[in-house]
Amino acid sequence: MAAKAKSKGETGKSETMEIKFKCRLCEKNKPLEDMRTVTRFSPVLVVCKDCAKIQR
Ligand SMILES: [Zn+2]
Repeated sequence: MAAKAKSKGETGKSETMEIKFKCRLCEKNKPLEDMRTVTRFSPVLVVCKDCAKIQR
């Protein structure tokens, strides 16, 4: 009887979907992959990709 592998690397990484950023222009919360940093402004503006498209 082989012992079952019980430790399957459960490190509790279940909050990855909770990470969201607030767009500085439309003030909507978006995931990180939809965020863009507009470096042409100072301080750097963090906006969503939709607003970043408008800014160009
Ligand atoms: Zn936006």
